[in-house]
Order: sequence, then C-alpha cells, then structure tokens
Amino acid sequence: MSQKLEQYLQSNLEYLKDNGLYNEIDVVEGANGPEITVAGKKLINLSSNNYLGLATDEKLKEAAIEAVKTHGVGAGAVRTINGTLDLHVELEKTLAEFKGTEAAVAFQSGFNCNMAAIQAVMNKEDAILSDELNHASIIDGCRLSKAKIIRVNHSDMDDLRAKAKEAVESGLYKKVMYITDGVFSMDGDVAKLPEIVEIAKEFDLITYVDDAHGSGVMGKGAGTVKHFGLEKEIDLQMGTLSKAIGVVGGYVAGSQDLIDYLKVAARPFLFSTSLTPGDTKAITEAVKTLMASTELHDKLWENGDYLKAGLKDLGFEIGNSETPITPCIIGDEKKAQEFSKRLKEEGVYAKSIVFPTVPKGTGRVRNMPTAAHTKEMLDNALEIYAKVGREMGIIS
Ligand SMILES: *Cc1c(COP(=O)(O)O)cnc(C)c1O
Repeated sequence: MSQKLEQYLQSNLEYLKDNGLYNEIDVVEGANGPEITVAGKKLINLSSNNYLGLATDEKLKEAAIEAVKTHGVGAGAVRTINGTLDLHVELEKTLAEFKGTEAAVAFQSGFNCNMAAIQAVMNKEDAILSDELNHASIIDGCRLSKAKIIRVNHSDMDDLRAKAKEAVESGLYKKVMYITDGVFSMDGDVAKLPEIVEIAKEFDLITYVDDAHGSGVMGKGAGTVKHFGLEKEIDLQMGTLSKAIGVVGGYVAGSQDLIDYLKVAARPFLFSTSLTPGDTKAITEAVKTLMASTELHDKLWENGDYLKAGLKDLGFEIGNSETPITPCIIGDEKKAQEFSKRLKEEGVYAKSIVFPTVPKGTGRVRNMPTAAHTKEMLDNALEIYAKVGREMGIIS
C-alpha cells in the first residue's frame, strides 16, 4: 500500500474518531420493516425511508421473483446498447402516468439521477440557483455541470426573486435554473412551489424539483408537484424509487423532448448498466399499487399524525414538519446522540442527526413513521420516549 495513502487514511480516521464524527454502522439482521433486529435485539424502527412499507410487500416480492425467472438477474448492458428491456419501457410509461407528464426516464438510483439530469441540461455558460438545504446529490450534480452555483436562503422567496433577477439581468448566463427538494428531509417542510413557479415564470427559470421524500407521501401519493397541481409547470420532476416506492432507483419525469434528450445526454444512462429486471418489475408494481389506492398513503399520514401528537403531548420540541417526518429537536449535539443511544437500549431505533447535516445547536433525533407500523408499536415507542426523555431531563 502507498505510504502516502496509508498516512492520509490514518490521520483522517483518527481525526473523525477523536471528534465524535466517525459513524459506526449498524447491521440490520433481516428485513428493514417496521421492526428491525440489530445485534440480536428487536427494535421499533423509526429510521427507514420505507414510508409505505413496500420494501417488504408480498406482491412486490412476487413481482421481483417472477421477473427474475423470465428475464434473469441482470439487464446485461447499458440502456443505449441493448440493456433496455420491455420491463424498463413498461416502468417508464407507468411513471409518466403516475407523475402526470408526457414521459419519464428511470435511472439506477436517485443519487445518480441528479448526477445525470443536472449535468445533461446545464453547463458552464449557465447558473443554478440552489436552496441551501438541498440534498448532497443535488450539490454534486450542480458541481458536475460546471454551471455557476448560487445558494439561496432556505425557502426564502424574497431571496430567490432577488437572486434570480440579478442572475438573469447580469446577462452572464445562457440559462438559469432553480433547483429544490420537494420535501426537506431534516425538518419535513415542503418547498413553496406555487411561489417558485410564479418567480420562474417572471424570469424564465428552468424549474427542477427533487421529490425523493415527496413521492408516495404528498399529493395522495403522486408527489409534491401533484399536491400543488403544477405538473405542467415544473420542468423536471426528479425522484427516487428507493424510499416510499420501496425498491431502488431514480427517475425524471417531464416533457417528451426533455426525456428524449436525457436518453442521449445523461451519462449514467449511457455508461452504467440499467436497473435489474427484478427491481424494475417490483417498482412498476409499487407505482401501480399507489395509483390504484390511497390506502397506504392514508395509513402513513394517520400514523405520522398519531406519533407527532404523542410526542408533542409529552412535551418534545418537534419543529414545523408538514409531512410524517417528525424530528425531536434536542439542541446539543452530544445530548441528541446520547438520547438516540438510550432510545435504542430501551427498544426504539431513531437515529440522531447533528451538525453538519443540520445547523449547529439543532441536534435532533428524527422519526420516520411508516404505513407499516401498528398503533401498538407507536404506543410502545411513545412510552420509551417518555421514559428516556424524563430520565435525561428533556421533558418534565
Ligand atoms: C435520498 C435522496 C436522494 C438519493 O436517492 P437514492 O435513490 O437513495 O439514491 C436524492 N435526493 C434526495 C432529496 C434524497 O432525499
């Protein structure tokens, strides 16, 4: 091994460990459902993005197994050689219908979808206005495009208007995009899409919404854009197939021209092997399930409201979430980590989230209730929250 590399790795690992920033990864023994087993201990799981419980759904499992039998385990090539299977075409048609757009294209993950789409559409002659709390994959996608990146204060429409005006009137850029999460995953707040669309019209901005946490959750399941009825206004609706949809992958939905272009210009589409047959079929089945019924969506919100009300009644500070995402804001980073650790010892798996993922002094434990939790599980979790919260002096 190179000595330079060895030194680099050791000094970085040491620094992270000394500063409490080294993340020990828990191993889930078995499926990631409403309860999980970690180190032999059964825990109520409030940390997965499996909002609708679809990751372990019997119908989806059957669909995946069937597709493996008919199509094999791998797609065999990138999409543009001969890795476009009939299953991918069926999925993309279903996604476009789901999102209310002319067309859609699927990618291997939400992360690489942002790498793919931003870079395909924007380049070094352009500017991207980006909400300061946008997801890491948006930040990386913007960097890869080489466009000028202009940070916009979180959901601050005055700041957006001022910066859009300045960017457009400067004459420095060929195109200007505004990019935002649909639902912000740390606080559970929702992007102000009606105002964003208004500002975009005023300045001819390209609009890009990453709805990773909105799909399956907002708009009766169809997402944040549908929630506001703006399917015809948002240029790129991007999302993941790995959270509420329960499988893996990402997509962009939009006009036929946009999708035709992404299929010739988006690098992960051209140079990375397509989604596996099993995943593709399971995703299609998941999306069809969401289109056929709002039952899982309704259950998710019922459980989210129940947990939120319970935590609030106990006296926890739960912020201003507009979605089932429910943070318990503790403040001090060390205390938030200790709280999460004690919850785990008592039987609740809820991860702490601290700086730099969230601002300093807003350390928290984040709860992700799902449609798969039973009322009994949530009541158990609330009891444990009450016990640990009192013991640590967080509530009285
Ligand atoms: C999780 C997430 C992604 C990445 O999606 P994956 O399918 O897990 O790669 C992208 N954007 C946002 C906002 C996310 O929360």
